[in-house]
Amino acid sequence: MAGVQGRVALVTGAAQGIGAGIATHLAAGGAKVGVLDLSLDAAQAVVDEITAAGGSALALAADVSKGDQVQAAVDALVAEFGGLHILVNNAGVLRDNLLFKMSEEDWDIVMSVHLKGAFLCSKAAQKHMIDAKYGRIISMSSTSATGNRGQANYSTAKMGLQGLTKTLAIELGPFGVTANAIAPGFIETAMTKATAERIGTTIEGMREAVAATVPVRKGGLPADIANAVAFFAGEEAGYVTGQVLYVDGGSELV
Ligand code: NAP
Repeated sequence: MAGVQGRVALVTGAAQGIGAGIATHLAAGGAKVGVLDLSLDAAQAVVDEITAAGGSALALAADVSKGDQVQAAVDALVAEFGGLHILVNNAGVLRDNLLFKMSEEDWDIVMSVHLKGAFLCSKAAQKHMIDAKYGRIISMSSTSATGNRGQANYSTAKMGLQGLTKTLAIELGPFGVTANAIAPGFIETAMTKATAERIGTTIEGMREAVAATVPVRKGGLPADIANAVAFFAGEEAGYVTGQVLYVDGGSELV
C-alpha cells in the first residue's frame, strides 16, 4: 500500500489540535510535512515531535488569509522537500455570536481564515500538484455547515468549503488532483474547549453530553480526523473526489 509514503504534505493550522494530529499521522506514514501556523515556535514544537519520532517536517509561519505569506510558505516547503502533493486546509478560528450581536469583524475574520485561506492555499499548491500530475486537497468542513445556533459566520464558511471542494474536484480532476472535505463532529481540542466555556460548560461536560447522544457513544479525538485525512491523501483514494465525509460518530443521524 503506497499511502502517503514519500509525498510532501502541507497542513495549515498544524501547531495544535486536529492539525497537529494530522501532521504527525501523515509524517508517521512517510510523508514529509510542512507544519504551518501563525506561530513559528508553536509549529516548531510539532516539527520537533515529528523528527524525534524519525519523520521529516518543516515549520512554517504564515497567516493563511494573506496571499504573500501563503506563497512564501509554499515556496519554502517546495525548496526544502522538492514538491507539494497533499494540502490539508485545516486552519480555523471561531467568532461565535448570535446574529444580532455578531460584528462585521467577527464575520470577516471567519471568512478570511476558513474560506479565503483555503482558496489561497489551494491556488498556491495546485501548480505543484499539476506539475507532479498528482495532488490531494483536503479541507476541514464541519457538522456545523448545515447550520448551528451562534455560528452564522462559521456555518457559512464551512458550507462554503464544501462548494470549494466540489469545484476544485471538477477543475483539477483532469490533472490527477482530487479534492475532498471532512466534516468533523465534536473533536476534543482547544477550539471545543473554548466553545464549552462559551456555553457555560467544560470540555468534560461537553464530551459526556456528546457521548450520551451520538450513536457511537463517545466524543472524537484528533486521531479520528487524521485517519480520514490519511485515506483521502493516499495514492489508493485516486478515484474518490468531490466528497464530504462526516466524521462525527453518527451525530448527523440523530
Ligand atoms: P484549534 O485547536 O483552534 O487549532 C486551529 C489552529 O489554526 C491554531 O493553531 C490556530 O492558531 C491556527 N490558525 C488560526 N488562524 C490562522 C491563520 N490565519 N493562519 C494560520 N493558522 C491559523 O482548532 P481545531 O479544533 O484543531 O480545529 C481545526 C479545524 O477543524 C478548524 O478548521 C475547525 O473549524 C475544524 N473543526 C473542528 C471541530 C472540533 O470539534 N474541534 C469540529 C469541526 C470542524 P492560533 O491558536 O495561534 O490562533
